[in-house]
Amino acid sequence: MDENKKTDFDTTETAVPSNFIRFIIDRDLESGKHTKVITRFPPEPNGYLHIGHAKSICLNFGLARDYKGVCHLRFDDTNPVKEDVEYVDSIMEDVRWLGFDWQDKLFYASDYFDRLYSFAEYLITEGKAYVCHQTPDEVRAYRGTLTQPGKNSPYRDRSVEENLELFRAMRDGKFAEGECSLRAKIDMASPNLNLRDPVIYRIKKAHHHRTGDKWQIYPMYDYTHCISDALEGITHSICTLEFEDHRPLYDWCLDQLPVPCHPQQIEFARLNLAYTVMSKRKLLELVQQKYVSGWDDPRMPTIAGMRRRGYTPSAIRDFSERIGVSKANSIVDYELLQFCLREDLNKSAKRLMVVLDPIRLTIQNYPENQIESFDADNNPEDPNAGQRKVAFTKHLMIEADDFAENPAKGWFRMAPGMEVRLKHAYYVTCNEVIKDEHGKVVELICSYDPESRGGGTADNRRVKGTIHWVSEKHTRPIEVRIYDQLFTLYDTSAGDPDKDYKEYLNTDSLKVIPNALAELEINNAEIGERFQFLRQGYFCKDKDSTPERPVFNRIVPLRDSWAKQQKK
Ligand code: ATP
Ligand code: MG
Repeated sequence: MDENKKTDFDTTETAVPSNFIRFIIDRDLESGKHTKVITRFPPEPNGYLHIGHAKSICLNFGLARDYKGVCHLRFDDTNPVKEDVEYVDSIMEDVRWLGFDWQDKLFYASDYFDRLYSFAEYLITEGKAYVCHQTPDEVRAYRGTLTQPGKNSPYRDRSVEENLELFRAMRDGKFAEGECSLRAKIDMASPNLNLRDPVIYRIKKAHHHRTGDKWQIYPMYDYTHCISDALEGITHSICTLEFEDHRPLYDWCLDQLPVPCHPQQIEFARLNLAYTVMSKRKLLELVQQKYVSGWDDPRMPTIAGMRRRGYTPSAIRDFSERIGVSKANSIVDYELLQFCLREDLNKSAKRLMVVLDPIRLTIQNYPENQIESFDADNNPEDPNAGQRKVAFTKHLMIEADDFAENPAKGWFRMAPGMEVRLKHAYYVTCNEVIKDEHGKVVELICSYDPESRGGGTADNRRVKGTIHWVSEKHTRPIEVRIYDQLFTLYDTSAGDPDKDYKEYLNTDSLKVIPNALAELEINNAEIGERFQFLRQGYFCKDKDSTPERPVFNRIVPLRDSWAKQQKK
C-alpha cells in the first residue's frame, strides 16, 4: 500500500517563480533607481497573525532575502485603543518561527509620532491641512458618495495661524474626542473618496502601549504609513489590493512633505483560504466568545494555531510560494496547504503505529506468552532516521474499519478468510468473527503463517493489504484530536447577508478520540513533536498533554485511497 500519495498539484520544483513585483524590482535595479531593496512588513498589533499575514511575510521577507536587501518589521501602532503588547510579542514570535529575521530593523510607527506631528504642522503652514470642527457624522455627510461630489467643510478656509493654534490646542487636550480633527486639504470633488479632505489626526484620550499618556491625538493610518515608509527608506511598499484606491493619498502626502524619499506602493491580491475567515475582528470575536479555545486553537487560521496543530514553517513558506502573487482576488483551496504539509512531513516525521478505533485480534496458533520484537523503520524516507523495536504478541489490536465482514469488490484489508499482512510482522488470516450482544464485532480470531515473518514468504504469494496494529499489552492510551474545517462555507464571504457569519461555524470541527492505542515508543514524544501515525496521517503532540494522558493533534490526514476509490 502506498502511503505516500500522488497528487493533483504541480509538484515540479521551480526556482523562485517570477511575479509582477519581482519584475518591477528587477526594472528598478537595472535602471539604477535603487541599488538595495528595502521592504517592510507592517502589522497592526491588534490581534494574532494569520495565514494571510504569512503570505505577506513570506513575500516581503522573501524579496529582501532574494535581492540581498532587508525587510523591516514595523508595528503600525496608531490606534491605542485596540493594541496590546501581547500582540506585539506574538507577532515577533510568529515572524521568527516562520524563519525570517528583521536584523536590527525593528520599528514602531509610534516612534515617529513627534516627526509625524511636525509634518502635520508643516502641512498646516503650507496651507495643506486644516482643523475641522465638524463632528464625525458631519464629516461623513459632507463627504458625498461615489456618484456625488462632497461639499467643503465650513472650516476649510481657516487661516494658517488659526489652524496652528487649534491643532496645538488639540494636542494639548483642549478639545474632547470627536470635537474636531485635522484634515488634509485636497479636493472635496475628487472622484476618489480618499482624497476628499481625509482626516489625518484625530483626538483619542487613550493610553498607548508605548507612548503612554503623552499623546491625546493620534495620526491616521494613511498619513502615518507613507511617512513611516519614507523615513525608513523603503523602496517597495507592498500591500493588499484594498489599498489601491489609497495610493493617490499615499503619493499626495509624500509629494507635499520634505521626506527623504518616495517609496513605490505596489498592491497584490490578499490570500483568502477556503472554509475560514481572515478578519482579525472576527477571529478576536471567536476567541472572546469562546467558540475556540484561544488564538492558538489548532482550528484557527492563525500562525499560533497552525504551529500548535503541528504545521511546519517550511510547509507554510512552500504554500506561500506556490499560491504566487497576483492582482486578482481568489480563494485558495485548503488542499494545497495540506499537500504542502504532507510533502514536508513525509520527509521528516517519525512513523508510529497507533490504533484509533481498536478491535481485538487474537492469533490462535501463536504461543500464549511469547513476545517477539520487530525492527520497524522510523522513516523509510530517511535512511538516517534509524529503527525502533515493536512488540508482537498473541493478542493485538487493529483498526475496526480495517475489517469488513462483507467486503466489497476491491477490498484488500481484513475480511473473513482473507489473508493480510500485519505491518513489519506476519501474514494473518481471519477465521472467526466474534460479536457482542448488539452484533458489534469485538474480536477477530486469526491464524498466522510463521513463514511470513518480516512480511514475505518463500512461495511469493500475493498479499495485497497491509494493516497496522499494536500489541494489546504493549500500548499507551492517548487522546487524539481530529480537526475539520472551522466553517461550513467554502467562501465565507458568500453567506446569507441576513445571517451572522458565526451561523456558519462547523459544529463538528473537533472530534476527540479519548482512547486511541499507541505503541510504547510514543512515551518518548515531546510536546510539539510530529509523527506519522501509519496509514492515518500526521500528528503533533499538544501542549495539553499530561504525563498520564498524552494528547495528539491531527495535523493532516494521509490520503485515504479507499475513500477515494469509493467516490469514483
Ligand atoms: P486590519 O487592518 O483589519 O486590522 P489586516 O489584516 O490588514 O487587518 P494588518 O496588521 O494591517 O492587518 O496587516 C499587516 C500586513 O499584512 C498588511 O500589509 C496587510 O496588507 C497584510 N495582510 C493582511 N491580511 C492579508 C491577507 N489575507 N493576505 C495577504 N496579506 C495580508
Ligand atoms: Mg491593515
